[in-house]
Amino acid sequence: MKLAEILEKLSNACGVAGREEEVRSLMKTFLKPYVDEVEEDKLGNVIGIRKGKKNAPKVMLAGHMDEIGLLVKTISKEGFLQFAKIGGIDDRILLAQNVIVHAENGPLHGVIGSKPPHIQKEDERKKVLAYDELFIDIGAATYEEAKKMGVKIGDPIEFDVRFAKIGKSVVIGKAFDDRAGCAVIVEAMKYLEKTECTVYAVGTVQEEVGGRGARTSAFGIYPDVGIALDVTVAGDVPGVREVEAPIKMRKGPSLTVADYGLITHPKVLRLLIDTAEENKIPYQLEAGLPGGTDASPISLTREGVPSGTTSIPTRYIHSPSSVLSLEDTENTVKMIVAAIHKIPKYF
Ligand SMILES: [Zn+2]
Repeated sequence: MKLAEILEKLSNACGVAGREEEVRSLMKTFLKPYVDEVEEDKLGNVIGIRKGKKNAPKVMLAGHMDEIGLLVKTISKEGFLQFAKIGGIDDRILLAQNVIVHAENGPLHGVIGSKPPHIQKEDERKKVLAYDELFIDIGAATYEEAKKMGVKIGDPIEFDVRFAKIGKSVVIGKAFDDRAGCAVIVEAMKYLEKTECTVYAVGTVQEEVGGRGARTSAFGIYPDVGIALDVTVAGDVPGVREVEAPIKMRKGPSLTVADYGLITHPKVLRLLIDTAEENKIPYQLEAGLPGGTDASPISLTREGVPSGTTSIPTRYIHSPSSVLSLEDTENTVKMIVAAIHKIPKYF
């Protein structure tokens, strides 16, 4: 299967944080042909292990399987669903979105509604509606009907967005944060026959709520080097100043120098930069982005793990649809594969 197809399947799957089962089962299937073992740990992280030479460094690649989304919070007596947010979601993007509620009897289509603008007061129309003023209409007439449709408190809700190609080597879809990282890991594992390292390809759970899966899986693996594969804000859209978001789509993977959760270990950064330059892979350096990745909890495992993040520049992260370049994604694969081959020289 080609990288774009892998990304498509992962992007269309639902994996609201804590409910990653669809993505988990895809990751197991995708990793299986390229690893010696696939394990699932107690929290639900998927760990594909490709055994290398004895005493060679252990490398952990982490891509988070979870996505931002919503959960059913209450069901009104008129059959509307009120919801809680999981992960960082801006209230401004919620209104009028189509969603899928993953209820017990199967998926239910719905839309996020509000009091119609026609009857809103002047000042109401100017302000952003907070998420708790919104509701999901699933077509139920009463509380009882919603219950009969299988809805219960806590059911995960995903944005109803399907993957599509929209430009030359450009795709649009849901949850590229971080299905793009997961796809890169799967693809990279195809090209690692010759590495001396033992590679742990990990699909982590619950990153969007605080890097929880990376924390426990890294504790179990205790790697010598950790690399998170994630996406980062591509600022090459109208209205963004260079200083706010200097990373651009189509300019190659972004190497984090420091973000709010991690100062990349100098040896890891050196390894990645040397790899890019020797292999003529375009790359961008990124510093100071608010937020962090799985590399942060990995780096603080036990006595510490030299760690870094390689990201695919992605537009409109943490909204229902994001956009990225397949070329950047392929270059991220190249970078990771080449870097892993070099790791024994650096660690
Ligand atoms: Zn992410």
